[in-house]
Amino acid sequence: MRILVTGGAGYIGTHTCLVLQQAGHDVAVLDNLANSKREGLTRVEALSGRPLGFYHVDLLDPPEVDRVFREFAPEAVLHFAALKAVGESVQFPAKYYQNNVTGTLNLCAAMDRHAVRTLVFSSSATVYGAPEEIPIREEAPLRATNPYGWSKVMMELILTDLHRADPTWRLSVLRYFNPVGAHQSGTIGEDPTGIPNNLFPYVTQVAVGKLDNLQIFGGDYPTADGTGIRDYIHVVDLAEGHLRALERLDPNGGHQIYNLGTGRGYSVLDVVRAFERIVGRAIPYEIVDRRSGDVAECYADPGRARTALQWEAGRDLDQMCEDAWRWQSQNPSGYA
Ligand code: NAD
Ligand code: UDP
Repeated sequence: MRILVTGGAGYIGTHTCLVLQQAGHDVAVLDNLANSKREGLTRVEALSGRPLGFYHVDLLDPPEVDRVFREFAPEAVLHFAALKAVGESVQFPAKYYQNNVTGTLNLCAAMDRHAVRTLVFSSSATVYGAPEEIPIREEAPLRATNPYGWSKVMMELILTDLHRADPTWRLSVLRYFNPVGAHQSGTIGEDPTGIPNNLFPYVTQVAVGKLDNLQIFGGDYPTADGTGIRDYIHVVDLAEGHLRALERLDPNGGHQIYNLGTGRGYSVLDVVRAFERIVGRAIPYEIVDRRSGDVAECYADPGRARTALQWEAGRDLDQMCEDAWRWQSQNPSGYA
């Protein structure tokens, strides 16, 4: 199948492009490189041994998006392109709504014009806000706690209405929990700009000596060790979930929503201990105040994806840490 991957040069996109190519699909990437580098795609080509199409295009530029559809003529779209920094979204909400929501509207309009109505969409567990029930099921109410999260809720609503208006759309909405790790070759991985916001890249940068020590946000949560619990999922498992979601779309149209997580929660200290075992030395840390907006505990009920997609995240916490560490130690400056 000819598959267009928006945001394909980013962290999850590169891993998914590789999985799609390895499954025999013909893949092209549309990315404005706002938060990624071309080098990631060169490395995907080296791993797959196959060429990847690349369009240096912004979703906010409709004529250029149209050109991509004319030239590549995709049969399906995987839509990763978005801005994703929670703190920045609080500071610059309009930029986030413009990029994420308008970008998605432009994409859907181009898809409609070119009669491509097969879409797998990157959503996030952030749409559940502070969940009332754990594990979180797809039926839980949607209520984000920041503009980034609301932009995901809005995009989900837009897709719901598109399908209501035209049931021939084939939509799969994937709500990711905490994607971490890297391809086991250590050649592609997460390359955050500046100081990382997320736990895994922060810990690996402490371990490699780029940062002095980890600050653990909160040691007084009502959890076994007092630190926050999350559902970390290996990025390659996540990428494989996209392939499965695409394969399982109803040929006659449909709209499905799936949690992609492991269903298992680990605390910040569990993650620190796992890294210490793998790296072979202590990770210096201090426990500081809670980070505003954080919840104590968040993990998925992945039952729907298991049943409907016959997909399950198989890689465990040690493998997530090992692969994240291999990527970080082989590429201390990322793709630079
Ligand atoms: P990323 O920043 O590495 O990748 C996103 C890519 O989209 C980047 O390459 C960026 O340059 C591109 N992009 C952004 N705006 C664009 C635009 N207007 N036009 C063209 N390209 C544009 O992020 P990621 O971690 O790979 O995330 C991919 C998707 O998954 C995003 O939609 C994100 O919101 C979602 N998600 C990520 C996480 C996570 O923790 N990484 C969790 C849940 C959901
Ligand atoms: N965390 C931390 N220190 C950091 C970054 C994160 O203690 O420097 C904690 C955070 O409070 C949460 C967990 O690690 O409990 C995962 O945070 P991350 O930002 O990676 O993902 P989130 O679930 O917030 O999207």
